[in-house]
Amino acid sequence: MPFTLHGDDVCQPTNPTSLPNPYWVAFSSSAAKLIQMELGANGLPRDPEWLQVLAGNQLNVGKLSFSNPISTAYSGHQFGVWAGQLGDGRAILLGDIDELELQLKGAGKTHYSRMGDGRAVLRSSIREFLCSEAMYALGIPTSRALAVVGSKQAIRRETMETAAVCSRLAPSFIRVGHFEHFASLQNTARLKELADLLIAKFYPECGTGKDSYLNLFKEISTRNAKLVAGWQAVGFCHGVLNSDNISALGLTIDYGPFGFLDQFEIDHACNHSDHSGRYAYHRQPQVMHWNMACLASAMLPLLELERSSDESQALLRTALEAFPVTYAKEWQQAFRQKLGLQSEQDGDITLIERLMQAMHDSSVDFTNFFRNLSNIQKDSKTTDIIQRNEFIDRDNIDQWFSDYLSRLQSEDFNDESRKELMNQTNPKYILRNHLAQLAIEKAQQDDFSEINTLLQILSNPFDEQVKFDHYSKPPPADMQRIEVSCSS
Ligand code: AMP
Ligand code: MG
Ligand code: MG
Repeated sequence: MPFTLHGDDVCQPTNPTSLPNPYWVAFSSSAAKLIQMELGANGLPRDPEWLQVLAGNQLNVGKLSFSNPISTAYSGHQFGVWAGQLGDGRAILLGDIDELELQLKGAGKTHYSRMGDGRAVLRSSIREFLCSEAMYALGIPTSRALAVVGSKQAIRRETMETAAVCSRLAPSFIRVGHFEHFASLQNTARLKELADLLIAKFYPECGTGKDSYLNLFKEISTRNAKLVAGWQAVGFCHGVLNSDNISALGLTIDYGPFGFLDQFEIDHACNHSDHSGRYAYHRQPQVMHWNMACLASAMLPLLELERSSDESQALLRTALEAFPVTYAKEWQQAFRQKLGLQSEQDGDITLIERLMQAMHDSSVDFTNFFRNLSNIQKDSKTTDIIQRNEFIDRDNIDQWFSDYLSRLQSEDFNDESRKELMNQTNPKYILRNHLAQLAIEKAQQDDFSEINTLLQILSNPFDEQVKFDHYSKPPPADMQRIEVSCSS
């Protein structure tokens, strides 16, 4: 199996706890294709035993046998503070299928559950499911979700809720926290095993020579810089960017109190428990950089195997300094694309930043603004542009549109092809909180149809899908501020 480190300081054998009378809540046939699962006409697995496997009630299905389920140990920084050992408190790695790890999230207590019950509620499982699949369709690296299986089993949170298990897939769920774990135990042999495993399986370009661990650090850091730029471009806020939630493969993982921006608020914090706004939208790049600093210090002993401590530190420090540079490049490219700018010109960044400021000042809907921007014609008159009505300071936005239009004049693209390109980068549909909430409320009444509808819409976020047009609208006034907290 992909997670090939062995030993009880690394992982523990963990059988799922059974979930009484499970039923399908959600299923992704697109994720099922990744593991070549055979589906019936109803879009669900042909073999009904999969329901029991994904509920955590049995370990065999057809020829597959998950004979060695485990949970793994990791440590990390939570909200900027060293939290010591954490680990898969409610995730169980069943095993691998076709180069992907299959995890059950919420399948009961593990060795690392601490005070928790190892369970996940229906609400958070649906959110993880929908967002994983939505992010994939948006082209953002992410773990995938295969299914949500529900049960009437009661779970105590702030109120009584019911349990569910979300099954998820990724090439690996290895995190920055795994490095921090072995670094904190001063177990360099384990650190080396972990790094060697990552290089062999996922980063062969890092090589096996003197620089391989430095290269590995650079690659992980680059992938995560690109990842955050992708988040910023679609207005995604992760909500809990603790180092234990940061993937060593640059994937979005551990969906919790995430949120997509509705109206643009640069300092929007989606996690109700994040009082200081540490993980607010505009802080995500900085915080990811900070997490890469955690990774660098955890990897330091690996570089010291080949070099002096001073030299190793200097190399990692320089590598770390590349993060904001990579991020800025990716961010600029993403936002140029959002504006339909093909060439790079001086002044583009100022143009983007002025727009962001104006959107913030007037609380303009982030997704819809960019989506509708593609309708503008190079020869439009500023005062005819309908979006100007969304801004409070009209003079300011008229000036901006006027500068934008002259910038468009310097592009070779005609209006039609620019629109086509812009619509491939500016989604029409995102998983707005209120949409998830409506699907959850129906599911809590045993009606899962809305989850399927959302899955269908969000699987094609760049398509017009006329009959679902109303799913692109901003939330109604009473659903603008849905509060979502940490682990549930
Ligand atoms: P999270 O904020 O979801 O990333 O969780 C932080 C840590 O708490 C991780 O080690 C989780 O595995 C653990 N955890 C979260 N919820 C539970 C739960 N219900 N039972 C056991 N462990 C949990
Ligand atoms: Mg987590
Ligand atoms: Mg505001």
